[in-house]
Amino acid sequence: MMADLYLKNAQVVTENKVFPGGVVIDGEQITLVIEGDIEFEAAQVVDLGGKVLLPGIIDDHVHFNEPGREHWEGYRTGSMAAAAGGVTTFLEMPLNATPPTITADLLTKKRRIVKNQAVVDYGNWGGLVDNNLDELHGLNEGGVVGLKAFMSNSGIDDFKRVDDDVFFAGLEINADLGNVIGVHAENEYVTDYLGKQLRGMARTDRAAWYESRPPSSELEAIQRACFWTGNANSNLHIVHITIAEGIQAVIEAKEKGINVTSETCPHYLFFDHTDYERIGPAAKCAPPIRSRENVEALWDSVLGGLVDTIASDHSPCTWDDKAPGMENIWNAWGGISGIQTMLPAILSEGVNKRGLPLPELVRMMSANPARIFGLYPQKGALLPGSDADLTIVDLEQEWTLSAEDLFYKNKHSAYAGCTFKGKVEQTFVRGKPVFQHGKILAKPGYGKALRRQYKYSNK
Ligand code: ZN
Repeated sequence: MMADLYLKNAQVVTENKVFPGGVVIDGEQITLVIEGDIEFEAAQVVDLGGKVLLPGIIDDHVHFNEPGREHWEGYRTGSMAAAAGGVTTFLEMPLNATPPTITADLLTKKRRIVKNQAVVDYGNWGGLVDNNLDELHGLNEGGVVGLKAFMSNSGIDDFKRVDDDVFFAGLEINADLGNVIGVHAENEYVTDYLGKQLRGMARTDRAAWYESRPPSSELEAIQRACFWTGNANSNLHIVHITIAEGIQAVIEAKEKGINVTSETCPHYLFFDHTDYERIGPAAKCAPPIRSRENVEALWDSVLGGLVDTIASDHSPCTWDDKAPGMENIWNAWGGISGIQTMLPAILSEGVNKRGLPLPELVRMMSANPARIFGLYPQKGALLPGSDADLTIVDLEQEWTLSAEDLFYKNKHSAYAGCTFKGKVEQTFVRGKPVFQHGKILAKPGYGKALRRQYKYSNK
């Protein structure tokens, strides 16, 4: 029987190598990965002209805020931005939706509300907060890919941080479930103390924000989270690590046999203090953007193969939530909109500028997220039987992002005005083009909900 589609003459990238070749697709799946320029009969044959073909990017950390805060983003615009950024699967956090996804019942309701919105596939995180230990089983049975907890305040009242008691209890329950807890690691007591001190000195400038959240307050929380994970024999994913010392702490924990993985985000690799102070509120986030020295040390960790995943932490809001920070940085909502630029940012600063090998990018941005969140090899791989989720990029193209090009509901981003080398040309989800040359082709609702398919594995 003839296959549906043969994408030929590409630079095909897997976790292990780059080779000239193509991919054969039948229905929604890959049926064959071809090395070399071989003739193959298909209903449609497309010559990619030597462009780079990656397994679809999986963004394991986004906030689309639906239901309840769709005016910040929502699944429709968020997933369109994903498609435009080469992201074929997003894993969405339990906050800042209202209500947040902290019970099995709320998970079911959320799934019903977002059902016909997305143009790419998605999974849901559940939450671990200070009063929902009884809900973790139900959330796990509902198919959540992970359980998110905060060691420092989340910034919203209906998603309370966990102190060490509840965190430890959650880790123990999670060990039985075989799921993974994703943690925002910053020390609440120290950041709160420093913040009060700076405010007491009437500091309202941009630097005050990062001075209140120093690398030490992040490192201590990472080490503590790893320690209790080992004690509970549980599984941990530390989100948005900004410092090389934090990545090193994860490596040291792994060496002790602790099940922990690391995530960093493009903005911690793309921007430094100077950029943040120039851009202002749009680049305010927690943990904060770090110094150039920290940024380069974090790059060394990435280039050294020490980082497990790179995710956007796409955290949008209206400009009205950012604007008060122009006067007083404490008054801006924290969060960077970045799902549409996550791949171009890493292609640009990593692959093109620093020689990051493409297979390493695939490992961190596709294969590892699929493994950690229980989706591999349906997602995250170019293998016969895998979903035909593909991202086609032009590695050489230089371009500048204007705010109008953003598919976000609120068209502002720290990346607006930035120049990139490396552009997403086409995105395929389950064999169908969802984004091509600047246009979204898929209808809302094409994206399917995914469930964690097996217990945690970081292998
Ligand atoms: Zn986040």
